[in-house]
Amino acid sequence: MLRKDRYKAFVAYFSTHQPEAETELVYANPYQLLVAVILSAQCTDKRINQITPRFFEQFPDVLSLSLAAPEEIFELIRSVSYPNNKSKHLAGMARMLVNDFNGEVPSDINELQKLPGVGRKTANVIASVVYNAPAMAVDTHVFRVANRIGLTRNATTPLAVEKQLVAHLPQDLIYIAHHWLILHGRYICVARTPKCHICPLTSFCRYYEQMQTASGVKKVAAEKSKKARLLQENKSRKQLVSVLKQMEVPE
Ligand code: SF4
Repeated sequence: MLRKDRYKAFVAYFSTHQPEAETELVYANPYQLLVAVILSAQCTDKRINQITPRFFEQFPDVLSLSLAAPEEIFELIRSVSYPNNKSKHLAGMARMLVNDFNGEVPSDINELQKLPGVGRKTANVIASVVYNAPAMAVDTHVFRVANRIGLTRNATTPLAVEKQLVAHLPQDLIYIAHHWLILHGRYICVARTPKCHICPLTSFCRYYEQMQTASGVKKVAAEKSKKARLLQENKSRKQLVSVLKQMEVPE
């Protein structure tokens, strides 16, 4: 199947069956979404939704957050991953919003990325969710699902995935396609063992196609073992770096 046909089938399926899709983070305005997205890095939306009501009670707007010390913020977010860094990022982000952006969350991706704690992925989420901009935030689900279905080809970095998706999806659907991919990856095309037996995308999914042939099964197994080896090598390198650091030996 040609890639353009996979795109057509993907868009047709989700436009019909999931014409409305949105983030599972609970928020009431751009400020709240920005805080929630910064908090959600390496953490689940469910956990973030548990702590944000209290957070927004204490810091109802960007001005109140800009006056807070990271230590105060830490107390409210200690149950999320990397609370130390995130406290500092939130404090810095709020101060910069007040000082440089008149307290408003910018819509431009480059401006957004100037804020502490805001990388390309977070900037794309804000631009697409708040402003419906044709921006594609690539997280682990988007990366994996787009590759499995065959929407991307030889894309080894989030930026490469983003560029391919943006180039091939209809402009006016990019903001929603982001949610389609995330939700599909979260509930059906899960990381370890995709639930192909209940997936409605089998007729145009490249991974499923490959799995129907013996050579395809071998190919997927070879890719998995290559990935495992690369992960192991990366882990070993990290361990080595950490040992060298302890010994104060240059890498
Ligand atoms: S068929 Fe399987 S691999 Fe393809 S999208 Fe569905 S769950 Fe994922």
